[in-house]
Amino acid sequence: MSSTDVSHETESEILLDEGDHDRFSHYARKADIVESAVTGKPIVALCGKVWVPDRNPDRFPLCPRCKELYEKKKSQESN
Ligand SMILES: [Zn+2]
Repeated sequence: MSSTDVSHETESEILLDEGDHDRFSHYARKADIVESAVTGKPIVALCGKVWVPDRNPDRFPLCPRCKELYEKKKSQESN
């Protein structure tokens, strides 16, 4: 019974390291990304997802939700 709890904890840790099941690059504030690169802590993306930015964001496709929100924000600012 108790061994199940331990294995579950380990599993979620691995998932966090892998950057979740959907491997996307997300938009976030540049200051947050820089800080995460130093501390290794997860940050909150534009879409609300908490993730750890990869050192090579080009490896992953851009999160569609982040892109949508970013472009919406950009078009509002230019108006
Ligand atoms: Zn996103």
